Amino acid sequence: MAEETLTNSRYHTLEVAEVITETHDSKSVVFTVPGDCQEDFDYLPGQFLTLRVPFDGQELIRCYSLASSPDVDEVHKVTIKRVDGGRISNWINDEVKTGDCIDVMAPAGLFYLNKGSNDVVLFGGGSGITPVISILKSALTTTNRKVKLVYANRDEESVIFRRELKNLEHKYIDRLSVIYVYDSIHGFVSKKMVKGAIAGSDGAEFYICGPGPFMDTVEAGLLEQGEDRSRIHVERFSSPVDPDQEAALEAEAVAAAENSTVSAFKVELDGEQYQVSHESGDTVLQSMLKAGITAPYSCEKGMCGACMCSVEGGETSLGINQVLEPEEVVEGWTLACQCHPVSGDLTVKFPD
Ligand SMILES: Cc1cc2nc3c(=O)[nH]c(=O)nc-3n(C[C@H](O)[C@H](O)[C@H](O)COP(=O)(O)OP(=O)(O)OC[C@H]3O[C@@H](n4cnc5c(N)ncnc54)[C@H](O)[C@@H]3O)c2cc1C
Repeated sequence: MAEETLTNSRYHTLEVAEVITETHDSKSVVFTVPGDCQEDFDYLPGQFLTLRVPFDGQELIRCYSLASSPDVDEVHKVTIKRVDGGRISNWINDEVKTGDCIDVMAPAGLFYLNKGSNDVVLFGGGSGITPVISILKSALTTTNRKVKLVYANRDEESVIFRRELKNLEHKYIDRLSVIYVYDSIHGFVSKKMVKGAIAGSDGAEFYICGPGPFMDTVEAGLLEQGEDRSRIHVERFSSPVDPDQEAALEAEAVAAAENSTVSAFKVELDGEQYQVSHESGDTVLQSMLKAGITAPYSCEKGMCGACMCSVEGGETSLGINQVLEPEEVVEGWTLACQCHPVSGDLTVKFPD
């Protein structure tokens, strides 16, 4: 199947059912998901939608986490906060209205509520509340786990979902606590605050989403307290590079793999093992799709992390990467959509 066809067939044109003003600088968009694609749009709490928007002669791709919960809400709702000088966030806040149609890819992402019975501690900063509130609602509704939310905002006026959170605090008085942190009153979240917030939550599962420095502080604070990295989950919000820059970055990664000696590689996915044929120039993801393997992926721009996987042997080159930290790359993590096999006996393993 041609790559173009594969890519296009993944988008569904959805109608906007409602636009909700949340705060002075954020709006929620509710989509109508028609009956015949309901199944495609099943999701886990914390996952995101990918929107494709024609803008200024280009097609821009942006991911937006679902703020709705599949266990509580009937609808698919994303919430978009304006970014200074941002194209799509401002377009959505200024232009999108009920009845408009937007191309949307089915939900994806690896940031979701894990199974388990340990406490859940959530850290949301600004618009980073979106996947976090989805996880929060599902954890409260489908489990008996205790849930704590540390929610940082510039000031009280910037708090998204204030009423919804208040109602949940009343409903789950014994299981939910919310700590609001305002930059204007308390300053930025510090490692000391993180330490205080997690007291009494031994062995908890941690979910972090928000501005870069906020996430870095929270993650460092948790690690300093001896929390295990495997229980710390982070979602990074970023825009992909523009289509014109994209081609140059991808060409660099292809050039690095120009003399690739790899004609096949192994894949471990969902407990199955596959031997995948590979042609030079293709990414790991493209080879898997050509082999008919249902690989997890979404943006194909090295931005969303849905195709994150580890390289267990062999050498690869990585094109656009807006998700993985340098340490993660050193540990062997890569993005299948941007990863080119170079040499050796390559095995690519996707997380369970
Ligand atoms: C998995 C995931 C989930 C996300 N979920 C959410 C969510 O729930 N809610 C939410 O609000 N956001 C979310 N985001 C972020 C969102 O996808 C966008 O990155 C965000 O809305 C900004 O997009 P934009 O088009 O408005 O900004 P852009 O136009 O991409 O601008 C971003 C920055 O670059 C600058 N810029 C503008 N034009 C250019 C240019 N031509 N070249 C270079 N720089 C430029 C802007 O000034 C701005 O500072 C998520 C991101 C990811 C990856």
